[in-house]
Amino acid sequence: MREAVEQLLLPAECLLCRALFSFRDAGRLVCDVCRHRWRPVRPPWCARCGQPEPSFGRCRLCAEWPAAFGVARSAVWLDAGAREAVHALKYGGLPRIAAELAAAMVGLELPGVESAWLVPVPLGRARFRDRGYNQSERLARALSRRWGRPVIEPLVRTRDTAAQTALTPEARLANVAGAFQVRNGECGMRSERPVKNSALRIPHSALRRPLVLVDDVFTTGATLAEAARVLERAGAHTVSAVTFGRAVVPDFT
Ligand SMILES: [Zn+2]
Ligand SMILES: [Zn+2]
Repeated sequence: MREAVEQLLLPAECLLCRALFSFRDAGRLVCDVCRHRWRPVRPPWCARCGQPEPSFGRCRLCAEWPAAFGVARSAVWLDAGAREAVHALKYGGLPRIAAELAAAMVGLELPGVESAWLVPVPLGRARFRDRGYNQSERLARALSRRWGRPVIEPLVRTRDTAAQTALTPEARLANVAGAFQVRNGECGMRSERPVKNSALRIPHSALRRPLVLVDDVFTTGATLAEAARVLERAGAHTVSAVTFGRAVVPDFT
């Protein structure tokens, strides 16, 4: 409803650069110029985490990841144009842009995606209240429509984590440790609080499917690795992850 109203009120212009669309393109949200500024992430990369290959030795970024966490891929590098798009999704109150971001992610190749269930990375309660929606959940729903795969939300965030700038991969993993829980005691996890709404219960069998974590940005993958660890402990065998953006991080190798 809110989105329909938004559509009526907003003139047909690019959400990022405000260029007006022609009548033919009036349904669009992001213009070609803005979209072409998004720089795709391409191989050669670490087969597991999708980061550019280190010049020496093994990739350090994904060395500590839980065994179940197989593959992470991102659509575009988070530089100028893509950063604006993520900003609009997160802070601009424009969740509609999730459809455009998902369109850029739809070609990402993951093993088992044709039978996978999509799992958005949850927000902490305070951030959810401020924003009014979870941008990762919007992305997951938009991808779900494209891939024809369902979305489940087995994870809750038990605390918001501090900003992760300039931490090493090891420090980032420590920073997010314990940030997630599986929603439901039936998943093999003891949950601290009773589940109030039984409709939110996730059957244990759901976690045995290939799961695909969905998030807006991959920085070092520490948040995704922690989410994967919690899912693994709850019984998941195969977890992969997709994000729209990938931060250009210092080379830790
Ligand atoms: Zn534009
Ligand atoms: Zn790696």
